[in-house]
Amino acid sequence: MTDNGIKNICVFCSSSNFLSDEYYKDASELGKLIGKNGYNIVYGGSTLGMMWACASEVKNNGGKIYGVMPQRLVDMGCRTDNCDEFILSDGMRDRKQKMDDLSDAVIALAGGFGTLEEFAEMFVQKQLGYNKKALVLLNTNGYYDELLSFFKKIVNEKFAGKYTKQIVYVASTPQDAIDYINNYKEPESVPSKHEIYSR
Ligand code: AMP
Repeated sequence: MTDNGIKNICVFCSSSNFLSDEYYKDASELGKLIGKNGYNIVYGGSTLGMMWACASEVKNNGGKIYGVMPQRLVDMGCRTDNCDEFILSDGMRDRKQKMDDLSDAVIALAGGFGTLEEFAEMFVQKQLGYNKKALVLLNTNGYYDELLSFFKKIVNEKFAGKYTKQIVYVASTPQDAIDYINNYKEPESVPSKHEIYSR
């Protein structure tokens, strides 16, 4: 356990093997920092794309890998044999629950629909006070710039309260993401009904 009480970091990121190098570079660098800083990774358990670029570097740098995957993806041959612990889930929904239960902080890197869905669920969990975990979006190569503009619109148009601006920390580099996690202190309380629903 590190000083801040965080041990296991859940990482969501792309399963694609067809991206520009800079995405894999950030995923690898983040994995390296996760291991070097005494953390473990909770991730999707596959050998694919940025997911494996990150997880393999955690292992190479002294951290443990917890892989969580549903049977369907195992049957498709996506599973790695290199997890310190492999957790089988029924489907994609209870898989997210298991990943949430196992982790103390969350980092989402660049990704497609799978990553977006995982990130959005974690965002809403924190928004409604189900947890107070550090939630980080690593904006490699400005990949999420348009999404971040849209987040501003959500608040400006009053679909969400101003306090939702504090839910996620947008990091520009893997080191920035890890520095944020290293220094993270959970807020004392979860948001009140007033904070959630006032505008
Ligand atoms: P995507 O961003 O659409 O590539 O989806 C990646 C995210 O969804 C990851 O964070 C995983 O948790 C999950 N995921 C999608 N495909 C796989 C796969 N083949 N094996 C394991 N997890 C996957």
